[in-house]
Amino acid sequence: MKYDMREMTWQEFDRIRHEKIVILPVGSTEQHGPHLPLSVDAIIAEGLSLMVAESIGGIVAPTIYYGYKSAPLSGGGPLFPGTMDLNAVTFMNLVHDVLEELIRDGVKKILILNGHYENEDFILEAVDLLSRKYEDVKIIEGSWWDQVSQHAMDRVFDEVEFPGWDLEHAAIAETSLTMYFRPEFVRIDRLIEDGVEQQLSYSVYPAPKEIVPKSGLLATARSSSPEKGKLLAEDITYGYVNILKKEFNI
Ligand SMILES: [Zn+2]
Repeated sequence: MKYDMREMTWQEFDRIRHEKIVILPVGSTEQHGPHLPLSVDAIIAEGLSLMVAESIGGIVAPTIYYGYKSAPLSGGGPLFPGTMDLNAVTFMNLVHDVLEELIRDGVKKILILNGHYENEDFILEAVDLLSRKYEDVKIIEGSWWDQVSQHAMDRVFDEVEFPGWDLEHAAIAETSLTMYFRPEFVRIDRLIEDGVEQQLSYSVYPAPKEIVPKSGLLATARSSSPEKGKLLAEDITYGYVNILKKEFNI
């Protein structure tokens, strides 16, 4: 794949690093209910990054597979084995150092494509610190769910009401996108009906077990399909491509 930095030699990267937009997918390793793998956030961020790179002729840097701590009411929290939470400082420094290496290699145009709800503030902190130091570098950051058009939303949430992006965890959008990008990873026979009954308007530490369903599902994934995944993937790619066209004059 000519867009995937993991498959390039240093000489191939060297030839294009100054002119191309580099996309950094950022995910997490986090429980996603009984029917989806732990790497959903990374799979989706990486799949979308490759589609965007193909559309604009960019480069996809190796995906970050670990994220900031999963919160009980947007990811299930630390109650589930397999959720690998980084402390804020560790995660922020990881993103910072990866970006700084790209910048020191001469990359001037960067898109960070985030796939894990809890990451965003810490990615932005890393970006802000770098942007004070490297004024000639432009960095765009955006989570994929913020790029979904109303038209796609109406078609994806045709049967089930949209629960909000915090609760849309292992639910229709993530299930459909994983069915599209990595169908072999989806255990559709283990799909169950579950969800958060009541959302708290405050936080409790340590998190009480009762506020998160035992299955890890925060909202139903009923009506998910690879067709909805394709629709979302193309819609979101279109959104990112328009942002890059506007911000980088391509
Ligand atoms: Zn997720």
